[in-house]
Amino acid sequence: MRAAIKTVKSGEIILQEKELPKLNSDEVLIQVDYCGVCGSDLHAYKHSKGYEFVSKPIILGHEFSGVVVDCLDASYEHLKGKSVIVEPMNYCGKCENCVNGRKSICTQNKVMGLHFDGGMAQFVKTEARYVREIPNGIPLQLAALSEPMSVAVHAVHQSGEISKSDTILVQGPGIIGFFVSVILAQKGAKVYLSGLEKDYENRLSKCQKFGVIPHIVESGNLGEKVDIVFECSGSNAAVKSGFSSLKKGGKAIFVALYEKETALFLTELVRNEVSINTSYGSNPEDFNEAFVVLKLLSEQLMDIMTIYPLTDVSQAFEDGLNQVVLKPVISLC
Ligand SMILES: [Zn+2]
Ligand SMILES: [Zn+2]
Repeated sequence: MRAAIKTVKSGEIILQEKELPKLNSDEVLIQVDYCGVCGSDLHAYKHSKGYEFVSKPIILGHEFSGVVVDCLDASYEHLKGKSVIVEPMNYCGKCENCVNGRKSICTQNKVMGLHFDGGMAQFVKTEARYVREIPNGIPLQLAALSEPMSVAVHAVHQSGEISKSDTILVQGPGIIGFFVSVILAQKGAKVYLSGLEKDYENRLSKCQKFGVIPHIVESGNLGEKVDIVFECSGSNAAVKSGFSSLKKGGKAIFVALYEKETALFLTELVRNEVSINTSYGSNPEDFNEAFVVLKLLSEQLMDIMTIYPLTDVSQAFEDGLNQVVLKPVISLC
């Protein structure tokens, strides 16, 4: 099979012929159709701080859709021929967090395409228990975005109930911030999505057709304080400005991952009784709501993706890094 291999060299991905993955009895083989390039793939590509754990060489990619083509165990035969996605976060199911339903923070968690080979190849294998059939009405290329949508669903849940009277600022027009803002607007809240001026044309402006208000950071403050901030940018400056955008008693949800430490003057946050919460990955149940949103908005969401053939995988990564596209997706079909 053809595969995009992330080599031991920073910023290098090469195409190679590889042997098909050998199946264990609890696994299925998937022929991949589309695979999204995630922010974490970009970090792994650039050997960013915090990604030292990524084994190399590796096939990256955890946001993919495809068709089950093989299995060893007869109990998975029914999956053959089905269009599927995979929950990429592999959990043990036994630790305290798993038992309490918090599988995204399983003490043993391993992520497909970061800890072991993922979906930027013609074929990929996974344990059958992580396979999810794609509901009718979601095109295969959009289904590849089920995982980032589930991460956005999970983040929104971390803020508690959203009310129609809430005013919310989502910081960072990457795919997670974008999806968070879309979900919140669907729930009837007034939602701003903020980003830099250079992000406006290719990323930020696309939020308007979902009822989200784009806000350019360089243009200054919002002009009103908000009830909730979702920090999805990963920028240290945005962490601070996010807190200053909050009403007294507001909530801040941190979804981004940061390369550097941030110094905060906690007295201000204490005086305002700001609630701080964090959100990491998603749980299996979050995919159910992700499918609902993808299906509901499937037509409008199609043009947020930029599709690259596998032969242009390096270009897809460079465009993702340079933020000239909202969501690079590799086509393998
Ligand atoms: Zn991802
Ligand atoms: Zn666990």
